[in-house]
Amino acid sequence: MDFKSVQRLFPSEDGNKPQQAAFLNYIGNLIENIDSLKDPEKSTLGNIQDKNNDFYKELIENTYTPQSGIGMDQVVQELVNLSKGSPYQTRNYVTNSIPVASMAGIIGQLTTALLNSNSLWDVYGPAATEAEVRVISMMSKIVGYDYTTSWGYTTWGGQGAVFNGLRLAIVKQFPNSNEEGIPNNLYCFASENAHYSLLKSVEATGIGSKHLITVKAGADHSMDLDDLKCKLEGVIQKGGIPVYIVATTGVTDSFGIDDVKAVKEITAELEKKYQLKPIHIHADSAMGGFYSFFREYDFANNPLQFEENVLVSLEKINERMQHIHLADSCCFDFHKLGQNPYNASLYLVKNGQDFGLLDLEEFDTPYVGNRGYGSYHTGYTLECSRMGSAVSIYASLLAFGVEGYQQLLANYVRVNLAFREKLVNKIPRISITNNETIGPITNFRLYENKANWDFEISGRATSEEIDKINVLNNQLFEILGKNREGVFFGDTKKQCLVDVSNSRNRQPIYAAKFFSISPYTTIEHLDHIVEAVDSAIKELEEIKNEVLI
Ligand SMILES: *Cc1c(COP(=O)(O)O)cnc(C)c1O
Repeated sequence: MDFKSVQRLFPSEDGNKPQQAAFLNYIGNLIENIDSLKDPEKSTLGNIQDKNNDFYKELIENTYTPQSGIGMDQVVQELVNLSKGSPYQTRNYVTNSIPVASMAGIIGQLTTALLNSNSLWDVYGPAATEAEVRVISMMSKIVGYDYTTSWGYTTWGGQGAVFNGLRLAIVKQFPNSNEEGIPNNLYCFASENAHYSLLKSVEATGIGSKHLITVKAGADHSMDLDDLKCKLEGVIQKGGIPVYIVATTGVTDSFGIDDVKAVKEITAELEKKYQLKPIHIHADSAMGGFYSFFREYDFANNPLQFEENVLVSLEKINERMQHIHLADSCCFDFHKLGQNPYNASLYLVKNGQDFGLLDLEEFDTPYVGNRGYGSYHTGYTLECSRMGSAVSIYASLLAFGVEGYQQLLANYVRVNLAFREKLVNKIPRISITNNETIGPITNFRLYENKANWDFEISGRATSEEIDKINVLNNQLFEILGKNREGVFFGDTKKQCLVDVSNSRNRQPIYAAKFFSISPYTTIEHLDHIVEAVDSAIKELEEIKNEVLI
């Protein structure tokens, strides 16, 4: 390979037409080839690739870096090969919260790539940093933060936001902890339904997972406030220091919404009673926070003319969501309900000045920031270079606008309301196990003969009875999973925990999951989706009968 061919691997230096045409041609080929694999009746691009036990072993053994580059046409072909069998968000894609990236989001990310814009410093990445400042302000206004004092940055997922919130929580109470290390009596709190992000964070910060206190959740899958208060006081009275409470606003599995307002009232009361420093509250709104787009919706006049049942549900969600701004920090995973390509998460804090507690000294950052030129340098993030995902977030916010997001998010609610009704009408052996919450998710659980969730949630079942139904649902997961090329459902082995009559340990509930995340899933397609559940149950019965014979 000669040097000239190497130069031709780059976009042009001068905008010349032949190089531009070549570049557009690669992109065009990629899109055409992926499009040719699409089929709305499936949830995948072409057939799922069979992966035997040696699949990855063979990849490891047989893949080499070519001696000479293989040429861009061939590269594109290899990329198309990689996409075969990939899940794709058609109407039949109802598993977890993985969106099809919108065109705005993709073009935004392409822009970042073309400019290779780094959010670390505005001298190097003016597009990324300008977009970041803009989206911080846009989303602060949406969620109800005072945009003159709030601040934030794009980070590594909802996980990163939970971690960054904890970092801030510690340094706010212990400003010297970065030099001296942390005391050994710090405690964090979250619902038993919270995402495991906090578990990893208490491990990584050295607080230790034994100092993560899980709070019981109630029938609506939100944090039980009496239990929170009781556990906070228990820790305080034993000499522990509560530093961080994660209130999940939109639980990943069930869409329960913790009451941020009540959590704030409890911490204020206890801070006063025990003369504590403020306890940092992080609203883990990674998933559900997008329903903040309804914070200022005119529910009385209903300008987008949502049907009555959809409107009532949206208002119910908003009752809790509207209080996110009372939390000290929050997060928006644009790569979930924001419909952006990975990774696109925005972490926001109410009081931006707090970042000063984490910022590095000039002496520690010799090659960026703190110059006469350039005025935006993010020395307070854990990352050094950061991908400019704010550009794609900016593009999405501009393309959808508030109303575009409202339409999408309302359709998820519309589809879930209808799905629940159709499912239990068709299959009386099924209960909806998150019936007290609504959003993009429905959890459903199969029983031997008749729906029995009321009995289980009331704590009257024995742990053996719960186990038995869990086993049955696990069998259903296997069949739904095997059939996922048709309709792709999700499942969870801990949708929530319930009390049982014969043990003090709360028992996890297994449930299948319908997660509406595709813009193409609409009410007309639900009969087919319910049919897929029904035939999976029939398949399950056949297997059971065969075993008996
Ligand atoms: C998805 C999710 C996370 C983790 O987010 P990533 O973007 O995958 O890191 C954290 N919390 C909640 C509530 C989530 O739904």
